[in-house]
Amino acid sequence: MTAGARFAHLFSPLALGGVEVGNRIFSTGHMTMLAREGRVTPDLVAYHAARAAGGAGLIVVEAAAVHPTAVRGPGELALVDDGCIPGYRGIAQACHAHGTKVLGQLFHPGREMKIAPDGSAPIAYAPSATRNERFRVIPTPMTVALIRDVVAGYGDAARRLEAAGLDGAEIVASMGYLPAQFLNPRVNLREDEYGGGLENRLRFLREAVADIRAKTGGGFALGIRISGDEIGHDGLDPDEIAEICAAIDGDGMVDFFNVIGGSSASYDGSVHVVPGMAMAPAYLAPFAGAIRALVTKPVLVAGRINDPRIAERVIAQGEADMCGMTRAMICDPEMANKAAAGRADDIRACIGCNQACIGHEQGGYPVSCIQHPETGRERAYGARAPAARRLKVLVAGGGPAGMKAAAVAAERGHDVTLHEASARLGGQVLLAQLLPGRAEFGGIVTNLAREMERAGVRVVTGARVDHALVAREAPDAVILATGARPHVPQFEGAEEAHVVDAWRVLSGEANIGASVVIADWRCDWIGLGLAEKLARDGCRVRLCVPGTVPGLAIQQYLRDQWMGVIHTLGVEVIPYTRLHGADRDAVYFQHTTSGEAVVCDDADTLVLALGHERVADLEGELAGYDGAVHAIGDCVTPRTAEEAVLEGLKVAAAL
Ligand code: SF4
Repeated sequence: MTAGARFAHLFSPLALGGVEVGNRIFSTGHMTMLAREGRVTPDLVAYHAARAAGGAGLIVVEAAAVHPTAVRGPGELALVDDGCIPGYRGIAQACHAHGTKVLGQLFHPGREMKIAPDGSAPIAYAPSATRNERFRVIPTPMTVALIRDVVAGYGDAARRLEAAGLDGAEIVASMGYLPAQFLNPRVNLREDEYGGGLENRLRFLREAVADIRAKTGGGFALGIRISGDEIGHDGLDPDEIAEICAAIDGDGMVDFFNVIGGSSASYDGSVHVVPGMAMAPAYLAPFAGAIRALVTKPVLVAGRINDPRIAERVIAQGEADMCGMTRAMICDPEMANKAAAGRADDIRACIGCNQACIGHEQGGYPVSCIQHPETGRERAYGARAPAARRLKVLVAGGGPAGMKAAAVAAERGHDVTLHEASARLGGQVLLAQLLPGRAEFGGIVTNLAREMERAGVRVVTGARVDHALVAREAPDAVILATGARPHVPQFEGAEEAHVVDAWRVLSGEANIGASVVIADWRCDWIGLGLAEKLARDGCRVRLCVPGTVPGLAIQQYLRDQWMGVIHTLGVEVIPYTRLHGADRDAVYFQHTTSGEAVVCDDADTLVLALGHERVADLEGELAGYDGAVHAIGDCVTPRTAEEAVLEGLKVAAAL
């Protein structure tokens, strides 16, 4: 079967206004933190060029401020003066060279201002002084003069994009940002011509559209990005969105609607901004389908579409005309080309972990991917340099670190054998995937195993590496990736109490009592996942953490969504606790700031989720070995899969 037959809808062209897009796969506008001082950088150009080279039909460059009142920080793009044009031109040229069309995003956050560029509390301008739940901002109502200035900013920004050679733009009217604030009767409380009935609430968006049309040429594609349902507290609902889309479509001024879900403004809405792996694939497609049934222009959709087979189905079912597969291409920039070539099984599927893409962005760091750390580092690691000399490489440990190192070293031409002590590849991923809602995490192992296979890595399982094996094999280089084991500290009463570690709970080896206390030091996925699992098993669960909330170390949308789940299940969260001791009936903590005792009575089982210790025995055994010895991942110091894979890449790229 040809690729065209396999993905007949996905690989057919689509016209967005006067812009012909070669296929139905696009990268949505998403913050990369690769901009500097509001400008495009060579790193940002290289990032988009990699997705264009990989076959994306369309790239929407991330949100860019259209007005000085929209500027949130130096890591975000701004279109407020002509100085932005050369940088955008670089993206357009790099992507056009591969036949990929490029749009810009026209953005004003309104009340969705977290901080001012200098770190102080911002002055946020919005239709009304309606408070924001998530960032706790009280906005300043916009004067009519400011509204008109911002409207003009949309047109001026679009003119700059056109001057840079971009094919068009979309107005970000989704997720509770400024245009959505004007549209929302619970946020827009104005009594002038911009508030009240729908016609008045539409005025701001219509004026922005008109200003853009007046300042750009007829070939410039223009669309609206909109949430099919803002889902959260006070957000626009699907009926309201339908009315808005029908009205805008009826004006005949825009070329497409780009549908997403959720809202930045609320906790329940924001978990849909970048939905994690607990959400079903393509779960927002029905919202797009509802809009598509009402409007005359193409409808685009995004939201957990990580597989070309799913995208093909969405388009074939008539829910949308084009699929946003942003994280799919963050994880595998060549996803589209692989699908087109009939190599769908070679695609490194995004697992929706949110760890290094949106997780990095929210931490203020450049976008990357835990499975593909080359992302965001295209200029350093985008191309695989062939090895100058073919080395014999022995990798000890078949977790993510060892697997990535083995795959990259073999791709570069080295002769690589990976030894794994247990019967299966995967290391801690094999346990992590057993946490509720985290089964997709196991995709890391599937993907890395495929990469090793394609690169020609020999794999030996059930074989612990020791000094004798290394001496016998005599490799030029040994890569130690022997991982970590649970940290089980000594504490008062440990012998008397019923104590088990997280790994034993997940592997099903532990008997658990009816009343469980979880001591969670890392505040990552493990404590939250154990709490959910044990609560679902019918246990009374108390989750004790040293800081303010569980999941402090994980991406906020995942944490917020998970906190809702464990709340519904009745898990009791006890913050500011440091494990002190236990006995048959109780677990004793110390408050982490007051130092006072916090006692959990009636506890049958204490589950320890206290992090890990490195397994570094082999490093000691190999001291004095003639060949090169490199340690990576948790056996250096326990962290996460992201660092393991990154260090695997780095060590293998340097061999
Ligand atoms: Fe997907 Fe996770 Fe990579 Fe983000 S970090 S692109 S969610 S696999």
